[in-house]
Amino acid sequence: MGMRSTTEGGKSKPRLRPINRHQMMLRPVEVEKLVGEDHEVRAIWEFVGRLNLGQYYGEIEAVEGEAGRPAWDPRLMISLWIYAYSKGVSSGREICRLCETDPAYQWLTGMEAVNYHTLCDFRVVHKKALDELFTQILGLLSAEGLITLERVMHDGTKVKACASGDTFRREEKIRVHLEAARQQVEQMGDPRVGGEVSPRVAKARQRAAREKQERLEKALEELERIRASKTSSAEKREARASISDPEARVMKQSDGGFAPSYNVQISTDAKEKVIVAVGVSQSASDYGELVPAVDRVESNVGQNPEQVVVDGGFISRENILAMSGREVDLIGSMGTGVSQSAGQMKRRGVDAAFYPEAFRYDAISDTYLCPAGKVLRYHDGDKRVGRTDYKYRASIGDCQSCCFKPKCCPQNTQGRSVVRGVDDPVVVAHKEKMETEEAKQIYRQRGAVAEFPNAWIKDKIGLRQFRLRGVIKVGMETLWACLTYNIKQWIRLRWRVQWA
Ligand code: SF4
Repeated sequence: MGMRSTTEGGKSKPRLRPINRHQMMLRPVEVEKLVGEDHEVRAIWEFVGRLNLGQYYGEIEAVEGEAGRPAWDPRLMISLWIYAYSKGVSSGREICRLCETDPAYQWLTGMEAVNYHTLCDFRVVHKKALDELFTQILGLLSAEGLITLERVMHDGTKVKACASGDTFRREEKIRVHLEAARQQVEQMGDPRVGGEVSPRVAKARQRAAREKQERLEKALEELERIRASKTSSAEKREARASISDPEARVMKQSDGGFAPSYNVQISTDAKEKVIVAVGVSQSASDYGELVPAVDRVESNVGQNPEQVVVDGGFISRENILAMSGREVDLIGSMGTGVSQSAGQMKRRGVDAAFYPEAFRYDAISDTYLCPAGKVLRYHDGDKRVGRTDYKYRASIGDCQSCCFKPKCCPQNTQGRSVVRGVDDPVVVAHKEKMETEEAKQIYRQRGAVAEFPNAWIKDKIGLRQFRLRGVIKVGMETLWACLTYNIKQWIRLRWRVQWA
């Protein structure tokens, strides 16, 4: 018997299993068993298998019986992206890495290594096919009773662009950068001709320089659009565009800060919170987004929603009339509609005691009586969409000799005027409807439905900032996130049921 080695206290040393990291091993892998029967990657594969991918197949150049490398199956590419997005992964490189280590990705690919460029290109090159895919998914969800269009909640959310705030430049600076970029492209010459780096690296550098030049040219174009949207000449002079993502616009974020962003518009069917339409806008304001949103729903699902619920940011007289014309029941409150706002009054130095509310209207004589007891007579009218403004004015003599003038109309060289706004009957009916308990109760449900997909896409998918640039690519990134969300809804509501 050998000697026992002992510790200082006289106790025998513990015997441990050795770890051998220098051995070679071959282990059989049953690919089919890499994931369980109820793993959601199987649900995604099954769901995508139900879709008609003809548009994607039609673009594949490699054909049976001819030479050339076979293409990756679009069903696999789509499933990979959807599964990755569902796990909060939106980077092509990360997916490639996961294909080597993660059983769910390995099950999808059959343990094959997927090419990074193929994967990334697939996400952005098939825009029409992706739109069609989203529509098809809605068709399947509709057939399963998950969409009714009885009530659609619509909302907008700002998502940060792939650009930082300090990439915004004025025209002179953009032109300087552009000239430098042009010179760089010209000096690079032919990447195949020998240099310090390999032709592949030289080609990549040349492509990067060319893309930079294109971005700067785009920045000049976008700067013109930004200028056109400004009213004062000072604002036009100060206008800037981003040289990283020229199509991004500075927008206010939910935390109160400002950042280059896009305004993502999502329409959600209230029944099972399925997203029925999605759009991306460069406008920070939501007023102009309601009609395009209803157009998208109609185009995707084939009919108008019966009712659309939105917050006050979408409610304007134009939108009330537009929805009425399309027989869509619009739910959402608008402001008081005071034609001369407190802000305007303040700017003109009017004392609060002389705001329009202090002037009394007499319908019989169609005149106003001011706080000093003077009469304001009808002056002119201004017809707008959904409303007509009637202006009433006091005589110059009355105001010039009035002791209240410094408080009532300090900057006025004419008599003080007051505007009486008269809404279109459709707008009046809308306002009355919004006073009913039924409308208020429907409106109270808005937040829970409309904000759910927004929060899910940001928190679970991680779409707080876009990886891609430009309205079209950003729109595609959003579409991938939204169709992933919809498939997750289907998995939760239909596919999971069989394993419950
Ligand atoms: S300034 Fe003119 S409108 Fe104002 S209180 Fe005097 S008279 Fe009336």
